[in-house]
Amino acid sequence: MNVPGELRPPGGWGHAGVVAIRKARVLGWTPFQGCAAGDDLIFTGGVEGVKKNGEPKWARPYSQVVVSNAELIAQQELYEREHDRCRVCYGTGNSWSGWSITNGNRYELCRRCSGTGRPIRSDAAVARANEK
Ligand SMILES: [Zn+2]
Repeated sequence: MNVPGELRPPGGWGHAGVVAIRKARVLGWTPFQGCAAGDDLIFTGGVEGVKKNGEPKWARPYSQVVVSNAELIAQQELYEREHDRCRVCYGTGNSWSGWSITNGNRYELCRRCSGTGRPIRSDAAVARANEK
């Protein structure tokens, strides 16, 4: 099977983090904390710098950015259109399913794309594409 290969969204916070960084509208802003609040995700962050020992640090004042579920889904659909990869497994066809000290990480076939790594287009997305 020819899967496209992993392409993670930049920033390490998945699709929601990409939205948060865009919405912050501050150059160099990155989140250091994310939490769920109902259907929303709230990211707290600031402009990221580096300590003398090489660890990241965030300059005050910190600020918070809310990412709604609708914004998250829109970003996931954008990712799938731009990169032709599944939003859940980032194109690997596998999703993480657990970890143990004896066997390390365990993976299973991605349930969304059934291991193809390709996007599954929603009916709404197909209808929009056909309108163009
Ligand atoms: Zn997948």
